[in-house]
Amino acid sequence: MKQNEMTTQSKLILSGLIISTVFIILIAIIATLKIQTRLNDAYENFGRIISKTLAVETVDIIKNTPVENQYLSLKEHSGKILENNDDIAFIEFFDKDGKPIYSSKDDYSKQAKAGTVTINSPMVTGYQTKENLGSVSVGLAGNIISKLTNTVRNSLIAVFSIVWLVFALVILVNSYLTTKELKILKDGVKKISTGEFGHKIKDKDVSLEVKQLIESFNDMSNRLHLYEQQNIEQLTLEKNKLEAILMNIANGVVVCDNSDNIILLNYQAQKLLYASEKNILNTPIQDFCDRNGIMSFSGKISEFKNTKENSEPFSFDTEINGKIVKTLVSPMGSNQGYIIVLIDITKEAEVDKMRGQFISNVSHELRTPVTVLRTYIDTLYNYGNEFDFDTQKEFIGTINDEIIRLHNLVNDILDFSRLDANTKLEKEYYNIQEMVESCVKSVEVLAKEKNVVFSIMQEENLPAVYMNEDSIFRALKNLLSNAIKYSPENDKIKVKTELARKSGYVQISVEDHGCGIAPEYQEKIFDRFFRVENDTHTIKGTGLGLHLVKVTVEKHHNGEVFVNSKQGEGSTFGFIIPIDPIEEKAEV
Ligand code: ADP
Repeated sequence: MKQNEMTTQSKLILSGLIISTVFIILIAIIATLKIQTRLNDAYENFGRIISKTLAVETVDIIKNTPVENQYLSLKEHSGKILENNDDIAFIEFFDKDGKPIYSSKDDYSKQAKAGTVTINSPMVTGYQTKENLGSVSVGLAGNIISKLTNTVRNSLIAVFSIVWLVFALVILVNSYLTTKELKILKDGVKKISTGEFGHKIKDKDVSLEVKQLIESFNDMSNRLHLYEQQNIEQLTLEKNKLEAILMNIANGVVVCDNSDNIILLNYQAQKLLYASEKNILNTPIQDFCDRNGIMSFSGKISEFKNTKENSEPFSFDTEINGKIVKTLVSPMGSNQGYIIVLIDITKEAEVDKMRGQFISNVSHELRTPVTVLRTYIDTLYNYGNEFDFDTQKEFIGTINDEIIRLHNLVNDILDFSRLDANTKLEKEYYNIQEMVESCVKSVEVLAKEKNVVFSIMQEENLPAVYMNEDSIFRALKNLLSNAIKYSPENDKIKVKTELARKSGYVQISVEDHGCGIAPEYQEKIFDRFFRVENDTHTIKGTGLGLHLVKVTVEKHHNGEVFVNSKQGEGSTFGFIIPIDPIEEKAEV
């Protein structure tokens, strides 16, 4: 609605005012006319009385005055009357033939006005004789009546005007107040419609009805505000939750628009792409992933765009910043872009590689003793009697050693599959010193081959340890075998058993002066199938030994493995395990 357009209410008020004004004017006119008629009647009566009185008086004058003096007497008498009464305009006397005897008009012509009321009265003698002497005409000037009419009209106009003014003023003030209150309400509603929930209207100086309306409005506004806040809180909570989930998902998530520009990415994606959100947002994904060669990213994205209709995510492996990343691309909504999920499979790829290595190592480890065994057994079988007893014995000794090697290897593989599975190991309290001594003894043959000696240092009065003796024995044996394997000939290996620094734990360590391990490999050597392959590590193995130690100690005994090593100087491998079951300790 235009600002200057009249409201229906204003139109009604104006029409009311016009109609009431017309009515008031009509009423005033009718009232004035009625009053005037009544006044005229009264005035005529008044004139009739005067003329009759004058007729009676004139009868006496005419009777008692000679004809020649009548004119003067009547003139004198009329003059007295006219002088004392403004409202009588003229007096005229006529004889019985209707001839004028005297007319005051000749002397007092000023008073005779047009439109005056003229009243005739006959001049009749005595009640009984009833002689007609003529007539008297009295002309009334109408001064009083016009004065009265004016006064009445003016009074009526004044009264009606005042009434009208008061009426109009009341209407105007009332409509002003109502409009003002409505405007306050209108402004409030406008604020709500623009989303300013919680806006309060002041209910000062308003009528009771509007006050109640304003109270209801404020209540509604407040409720809307609370509702909005609750809604916002809920939405924010949901949004934060979703954002937190997305941001902290273990895989990288990147959302791109149709022009390949990145519009969203989570922490893992930032880590994988080596880029902060600030630098990467709104830049093409290819800038961060594209590498030349077979793992090219942009080529794959265009391939995905050409096969977008597929319901399955488009999947390919790529190399990003030295990491092998499995990439899944899926379209988003109706042509809004696409979502890329980046899964770091570097470790799995490494494990795959190591598994391949492991199989080749195991095959090699198996082939060597089998070949040796075959050769020796074949020689003995075909040419045995050509050799003397000592040579035969030496052959059989070698066969025995190879069988032991084979046996150990098969045991390692079996242990690996057993320990890696979730089978629970039976445990009891065992004397750890005795276990260490017998374990050292079991590798003495191996040590002798390299002329390596052991020095055993055991803390006195160590308590019995709650463990699966068999698996701990094998774990220690692995450490001891490695120490021998990676030590130079004629070396010394220190085996220590003591209470660990961590209270409630016992520690076993094996210190050698072998080749040592470079720092970058120290973290990985406990991983399954991991082997350090370089010139200094030409000794064959499966890469399972240390992994088995870790699984035995950490998974099955709640302990910890450790290594301290310096390349070229030697290594100390060891582990700590709780003396008592962990659960029992927690109860203490
Ligand atoms: P394996 O000895 O069969 O290769 P392990 O799991 O026992 O497998 O050892 C993993 C790797 O850790 C070895 O390949 C070797 O490079 C390194 N390693 C283990 N023990 C020692 C040690 N005492 N000194 C030097 N390197 C060692």
